Amino acid sequence: MSRRLRVDWPSCRARGLCHELLPELVDLDEWGYPVVAGEVTDALLADARAAVRACPRLALRLTDR
Ligand code: SF4
Repeated sequence: MSRRLRVDWPSCRARGLCHELLPELVDLDEWGYPVVAGEVTDALLADARAAVRACPRLALRLTDR
């Protein structure tokens, strides 16, 4: 199973909190929008869930593919 973080772009406000919480997977583009790279490994799962919970716009979710 390949878990990934997905961004709901219309909801995202480019504050970058997800990058601060999960820099291993989330970079920011020049406008501050998240660029998610790679899958959520078991080692990163707890941090990824924390980033999903912390997103102030509920714009992040974990998917199974
Ligand atoms: S924490 Fe949420 S609103 Fe902020 S940049 Fe990440 S996805 Fe967008």
